[in-house]
Amino acid sequence: MRKTISIIGSGFSALSAACYLAKAGYTVSIYEKNDTVGGRARQLKKDGFTFDIGPSWYWMPDIFDKFFNDFGKSTSDYYQLDKLSPAYKIFFSDDVITIGDHMDKICDEFERIETGSSKPLRKFIATAQENYDIAINKVVLKPGLSPFELVTKETITRLDRFYNTISKEVRKNFKNPKLISTLEFPVLFLGAKPNQTPSFYSFMNFADFGLGTWHPKGGMYEIVKAMKSLAESLGVNIHTNSNVEKISVDNKKAKSITVNGTIINSDIILSGADYHHSETLLDENYRQYSESYWESRTFAPSSLLFYVGFNQKLKNLEHHNLFFDTDFENHAEEIYDNPKWPKNPLFYANFPSVTDASMAPENCETGFFLIPIAPGLEDTPKLRQQYFDLIINRFELRTGQNVKAHILFKESYCVNDFIDDYNSYKGNAYGMANTLMQTAFLRPKLKSKKVNGLYFTGQLTVPGPGVPPALISGKLVAELIQKNEV
Ligand SMILES: Cc1cc2nc3c(=O)[nH]c(=O)nc-3n(C[C@H](O)[C@H](O)[C@H](O)COP(=O)(O)OP(=O)(O)OC[C@H]3O[C@@H](n4cnc5c(N)ncnc54)[C@H](O)[C@@H]3O)c2cc1C
Repeated sequence: MRKTISIIGSGFSALSAACYLAKAGYTVSIYEKNDTVGGRARQLKKDGFTFDIGPSWYWMPDIFDKFFNDFGKSTSDYYQLDKLSPAYKIFFSDDVITIGDHMDKICDEFERIETGSSKPLRKFIATAQENYDIAINKVVLKPGLSPFELVTKETITRLDRFYNTISKEVRKNFKNPKLISTLEFPVLFLGAKPNQTPSFYSFMNFADFGLGTWHPKGGMYEIVKAMKSLAESLGVNIHTNSNVEKISVDNKKAKSITVNGTIINSDIILSGADYHHSETLLDENYRQYSESYWESRTFAPSSLLFYVGFNQKLKNLEHHNLFFDTDFENHAEEIYDNPKWPKNPLFYANFPSVTDASMAPENCETGFFLIPIAPGLEDTPKLRQQYFDLIINRFELRTGQNVKAHILFKESYCVNDFIDDYNSYKGNAYGMANTLMQTAFLRPKLKSKKVNGLYFTGQLTVPGPGVPPALISGKLVAELIQKNEV
């Protein structure tokens, strides 16, 4: 008899796990509350404009390749991947740094800013590459069950990289504040401040400068479509508009889920929804982590987002643009230490139609703006508008053009939407941060300690936030299920 598995949610981790489990011979059904799959990576289509609602940076192409290769496929079977050149642009108050698609170009740009800086940069990236090889091939593929998983001959001889912070390491080698910000930016994807992120995570710098920034033609939603198509070809049943209201347990064994009022039994239950929410679906005595546990964790930021259609092409922009023209320390403090609406935030602006004509009508531009904010902040239409005005004025100033008169429409997305759409804890966008004390075996576990046959996957468990880690999280939990549930 094939064992049955019910999966809650259809984010990248759930889709990944579903594919591996279906391939291993389980009967897999996904129940997703929203009307489309992909979790935070949904798509907005409006008046000929196409927006990725969530992730927009395609980094670590090797992880996507490995995922599809595990099923005898490659990314090119599903979507066209283009390397962006340049990768992105950073606007400072008095200069603009352009990150090219090759180390030589990036070194030239570093030299322009600080003479002699290309030498320490090459050394820094060589170490980052070493960390990437260790992380991706040795550390990240472990299920986070025990501290000993981190003990390999490669990590034990490099312990300082776990205790030193990325911030310290960068500052040891570089003095120019713009170069420091440029090198600290990639670890922001991990959700914590650079001065609380182990220097081992410089592997993100290798992902950035070494592996480059890519774009699937048509947008990030192409990855979701690819995974959905793969899952269905493997026999996974996908049910959308299917809100899971309860996980029922019988004699310490996961027994059923209640979906829109209907009880569905299965041998195993796996939740790819936010971990905190998943546990609230259980009776209290079966929850592993208390409210005070979640309260004490460092969460990755939430975001205020705007999706804007412009009726003309904009100038002086790349596909990805960072606006680091204000003080990062102050903004970081307002996200992590003293959560409040930021006074003068950094922001990110994405214009996929700069390199991909399919994303906007002819002679128009698709724009996506993101301001990182602390999770759990008050979210009102007035505040959203106030912040839009603030960043669009700075955007006009830094890029030297008037864009306000060319806005056809603007949609916004913030804390309340993250909670309503994804049951996200405090409206977090990227899950739980990867600080030293929230790494690997110190993260919420893939397998429930209290309920047999109940598992979790996604950005609040191992390995952490981001699309590539979500693909890995799905693989790890599928392997654990196969090991435990024969
Ligand atoms: C704005 C934004 C920008 C980002 N940018 C990037 C980026 O550029 N690059 C990158 O790599 N990563 C990025 N990320 C992070 C990345 O998108 C996430 O880490 C990843 O998508 C998380 O996937 P997941 O599998 O954990 O689950 P999620 O995407 O959170 O999916 C969980 C699913 O569970 C469903 N669900 C919840 N409760 C229930 C229920 N009761 N019943 C049924 N279904 C339920 C939800 O509707 C959702 O579909 C970004 C995230 C956001 C929000």
